[in-house]
Amino acid sequence: MLPDDATDSIPPERFVVEVFSELDQATVQRRWREVNTILRLAMLGGMQIQLEATLNMLLDFAAEISFFEKSLVYFWEEDSEQVKLRLAGGMDRETAEPFVRGNIFNFWATRFGRPLLVTAGHNLLSDAALESLGARSALIVPLVVSNKVIGSMQLFSAEHESFTREDAQLFWMLTLVAENQLTRDYENEGLIKFAFTDFLTGLKTRGYFEQQLELEIKRAERKRTPIAMLMLDLDHFKTLNDTYGHHVGDQVLRDVSAVLMKDLREVDTAARYGGEEFVIVLPETNTTGAMQVANRIRRGVEQAKFFAGSPRQVERLTISIGIAIYDQDAQSKRELIEAADAALYQAKGQGRNQVVTHAELGVKKKEVS
Ligand code: GH3
Ligand code: MG
Ligand code: MG
Repeated sequence: MLPDDATDSIPPERFVVEVFSELDQATVQRRWREVNTILRLAMLGGMQIQLEATLNMLLDFAAEISFFEKSLVYFWEEDSEQVKLRLAGGMDRETAEPFVRGNIFNFWATRFGRPLLVTAGHNLLSDAALESLGARSALIVPLVVSNKVIGSMQLFSAEHESFTREDAQLFWMLTLVAENQLTRDYENEGLIKFAFTDFLTGLKTRGYFEQQLELEIKRAERKRTPIAMLMLDLDHFKTLNDTYGHHVGDQVLRDVSAVLMKDLREVDTAARYGGEEFVIVLPETNTTGAMQVANRIRRGVEQAKFFAGSPRQVERLTISIGIAIYDQDAQSKRELIEAADAALYQAKGQGRNQVVTHAELGVKKKEVS
């Protein structure tokens, strides 16, 4: 995070590098290998690539231009309307964690739109950032999309003055060349997000859920952690529709979605599975954790007042929830979905407005909630 006093901070003048849109003769002669690297990037210009892959590739090219031990790449995220750390090289998760929503260098780069050559000992804010990365110098290059600075590539070295003005100039050329590619990838990212968002509720689509669950299962296998899956279905929703019409039903579905989304972690996925059925995937969550989330949602829906047409007409609703845990209740994606569905079916059969886990199926027939 940025320190509170950062918003009106400006970088020391000595950090800001004046750059040109052409390389001078001496640089081309001295650094012809790096010039070729930049040209190679230009040749990839027309390819359809995912944003993350392009940013990774930029870092690879950067490594051919200059030596650095650690790197951070920031890029604007349309969804959250915030800048977000996309890549962190040469460091573990904990080191990168404080910088996830930006740092002082990205702030300066965005504000000045110029490369920065940062060295220790000239500014308290940058010294603090350098220190927590174990670095003594940094080269910061703004990343540009449609003439707007939309992120930055940040390279760090433990040596005192590891980067030169010439490096900065070469990196500037590299990002100018990358601009077209970044613009296209960035627009693509928006389109992909749009395609995976349910139009009615703003939740993720079923397709996204299926894909995400597959990824989470692979991760869970590697890390030997559980995944909780919740399957949710509104109780007697047909009655509400029949009484007030589909239009009101649709609005209630949006309101219920807001209850589902509340208090979920960033790693959790809530999706609309079908008409008034929802799924929630909770990575690294066991039965106890899943029960807490499910009961919070169940109570949230039970206590919510849904407007049926006019503010005076208030409707009450309840929701039934089935829980299954990977890999305790199921060993594959399909099995996990079926297990959660079976638990949901049991919750309906037992009288609705309750949470049932797959583990208790056939063991316990009555639930007191
Ligand atoms: P229960 O689940 O408790 O057994 O009863 P239910 O009445 O909810 O039954 P079921 O889940 O089988 O019915 C789903 C109903 O949800 C059918 C339809 O009226 C309504 N529905 C499904 N999708 C939509 C939608 O997109 N908009 C609206 N307004 N209603 C929908
Ligand atoms: Mg249903
Ligand atoms: Mg229903």
